[in-house]
Amino acid sequence: MSRLSSTVQFVDGVRAGDRSALAQAITLIESRRPGDRARADEVVSALLPDAGDSHRVGITGVPGVGKSTFIDQLGADLISLDNRRVAVLAIDPSSTRTGGSILGDKTRMQRLANDPAAFVRPSPTAGTLGGVARTTRETMLLCEAAGYDVVIVETVGVGQSEVVVAEMVDVFVLLMLAGGGDQLQGIKKGVLELADVIAFNKADGDDAGRARAAVAELQTALHLLAPREDGWTTPVVTCSAITDAGLDTVWDQIEAHRKHMQASSRWTERRRRQSVRWMWSLVEDRLMERFRNDSQVRALLPDMEAAVAAGEITASTAVERLIGGHT
Ligand code: GDP
Repeated sequence: MSRLSSTVQFVDGVRAGDRSALAQAITLIESRRPGDRARADEVVSALLPDAGDSHRVGITGVPGVGKSTFIDQLGADLISLDNRRVAVLAIDPSSTRTGGSILGDKTRMQRLANDPAAFVRPSPTAGTLGGVARTTRETMLLCEAAGYDVVIVETVGVGQSEVVVAEMVDVFVLLMLAGGGDQLQGIKKGVLELADVIAFNKADGDDAGRARAAVAELQTALHLLAPREDGWTTPVVTCSAITDAGLDTVWDQIEAHRKHMQASSRWTERRRRQSVRWMWSLVEDRLMERFRNDSQVRALLPDMEAAVAAGEITASTAVERLIGGHT
């Protein structure tokens, strides 16, 4: 297919569920070329009324916990048993730092990569975490407009990126390993609190019993946390991504969470809150970008940094001089 040129072509192509148009529209969103930003905004704005109908599912866990195996199997089950269309996106903090990637490699999800009812998009390998969050969020909207009714956003559980993903999904699933120990798994208490569903993966063979014990232990630990404001109690279950055992239970819990949230209008509230917070993070990004690109600021910045470093002026004096003329 030829390269698309007009906004209308992008919009019509995505709306028609054309994978090539969708892929090109995402590339436009990820582009850092001047001019592309404005066109990408046009495309996303035009498609916004067609978006919003999917179940947005975040999945996290340390490298090796089985995220890609899990998503490949769950996605395949949703497609074959439930007739769903599944998009998989990734946010990979390692790729934004180094250009290399823990996630985002298409070949990790063989079944989905070859399934016409699935769309797998690797994590962008450039940009800040904030920038990648923006492109992923807009990509999610495009996938929804293209008719994908489950959008899975995957991230490695190593810090800030979980918060970013939790901020853009309806339900956040944490995969864990029995006997891994919280520290070994790099799981911070904050991440446990973000999780709406927790599953101990690799509950197969000799490890099945260990996984059951881990469930009981974690359930006890979760009881010690303050009850959630939304009235949902985070279920802890076991599964095996390799044998497909328990994946239906995980999905049942994801659906139960949706029903719980929808019964009390918390579902729409969560999305509204996310949209407003997203707007503010865009405001911050764009103000920062303007600030850094401002010619006066650029001229002054080296001197200000040097003067602050040398203790000649205070940081707040430097800030006054840098932004004084712009407020
Ligand atoms: P990721 O880094 O979290 O995406 O993990 P992968 O999906 O790449 O899985 C890491 C390794 O664990 C691979 O060798 C998988 O075959 C294996 N694995 C994944 N899920 C399971 C499972 O449920 N049981 C067992 N025994 N191995 C698994």
